[in-house]
Amino acid sequence: MTCDNKEFLTLRGGRTPRWREECGVFGVWSESRPVVDVCYLGLFALQHRGQESAGIAVSDGMHIDLEKGMGLMTEAFKTRAPSLKGYCAIGHVRYSTFGGASFANIQPIFASFASSSGGGFVCLAHNGSLVNAKKLRARLEAGGCVFQSTSDSESMLNLIALNSAPTIEGKILSSLETVEGAYSLTLMAGARGSADSTHEARLIGVRDPHGFRPLCLGRLGEREYVLASESCALDAAGAEFVRDVQPGEMVVIGRKGVRSFFLQKKERLASCVFEYIYFARPDSTIDGLNVWQARYRMGRQLAKEFQEGYPGVVPDAVVPVPDTGITAAIGFSAESGVPYAEGLIKNRYVGRTFILPEQNARKSTVGMKLNPLRENLKGRKVVLIDDSIVRGTTSARLIDLLRGAGAAEIHMCVSSPPITHPCYYGIDTSIRKELIAAVSTVEEIRKTLGTDSLHYLTLRGLLESVNDAGGGKMCTSCFHGDYPTDVTEVAL
Ligand code: SF4
Repeated sequence: MTCDNKEFLTLRGGRTPRWREECGVFGVWSESRPVVDVCYLGLFALQHRGQESAGIAVSDGMHIDLEKGMGLMTEAFKTRAPSLKGYCAIGHVRYSTFGGASFANIQPIFASFASSSGGGFVCLAHNGSLVNAKKLRARLEAGGCVFQSTSDSESMLNLIALNSAPTIEGKILSSLETVEGAYSLTLMAGARGSADSTHEARLIGVRDPHGFRPLCLGRLGEREYVLASESCALDAAGAEFVRDVQPGEMVVIGRKGVRSFFLQKKERLASCVFEYIYFARPDSTIDGLNVWQARYRMGRQLAKEFQEGYPGVVPDAVVPVPDTGITAAIGFSAESGVPYAEGLIKNRYVGRTFILPEQNARKSTVGMKLNPLRENLKGRKVVLIDDSIVRGTTSARLIDLLRGAGAAEIHMCVSSPPITHPCYYGIDTSIRKELIAAVSTVEEIRKTLGTDSLHYLTLRGLLESVNDAGGGKMCTSCFHGDYPTDVTEVAL
């Protein structure tokens, strides 16, 4: 067997790499539409999940055509349509949390394989991070496998390509039993000359047994389907939402329609609560809960808790940190009766500070990105709503901006609990000592930021807001450090 990809692959485009990953994945299977265009639209709607690179792979069952590049979708794809017209495509937008900055780490990634029945190909796009990637890679390298990138996703790809099961479905299921951590995958796979495939390319979606990252299934038409990290991408692609892919489920889409398989491994459910707090788009619905609704409820709960904790404070205005603080601020205002006001105006042409890779870039972009609206701030007692505080540098700069604009009092309310531990499942929350809540008390943070008060949403309040009052469905590990997997290999 081999991991050599030359036989099928045409690789184009690309620019100098400079990045890292939280990602968005997409896939489409359609014999009546230009799948590359559908994939482009879907990925465009997922741009918030990764802005460092993007890629699309298309197949007609015999060949794979792959186009990828650095930067936003508009930068990565100077020409939108690869020449090969296929009926199956997968795509990826990337922000790196694992693996270095190199063109080779851009996804989708590809491998061909030989077998007694003729061999085939598999192409993979991954959202998440593995917690046993080093072990998997060492085992594969010891077996003679040569890696082309430094990303954990390539270990999964090689495991699948080298697996001896006779069918693609068997290869994927059997390989993933050895993989630990977070993965929502879209794959495109086919098998040359074997009885079960006759060159058909299949679109495959898999969600790890914990369900860390979202993945949903949509329908474009009769026997035409899409897979996407978030439902907002289904809307953009003109698809109708069918259902979420279940934790531990693999869906296989081809001429036989949609078939469902399950991994044998059963794990505790741990859907990332941070998708609702910050990461996903508010117009997405994940596992039956709309993100906007969840954020609105976080805001209402935050108002209740703030009013209980600070009964003597009567604010004049609730001001969000745009964009992700807006919905919680609307909820806070509705619950408390304090008027909602814009106090920070966003320059929409500057990227999200949270997902820019360098600390210096974070510092320098805050002022470029947000400008205070003095008329709404001067002399007023302001409740400032933000979704989270990670390192505290962005928040401190924001408080400076509000003070400079004349705010009389600033009460900061955060719609998540203090982040005290890193994430190992695909969100770059940095190493532990850089997390301000890991090394400071709430009062120390308040003093560092220079606010009149500081209130974080309680974990109980957060879980109630996301319909998980019992705490059995969501991952909340970055608030307490009790991880749903072994993290010995990756602990920072
Ligand atoms: S550790 Fe935090 S950010 Fe990471 S998956 Fe769990 S809840 Fe999400």
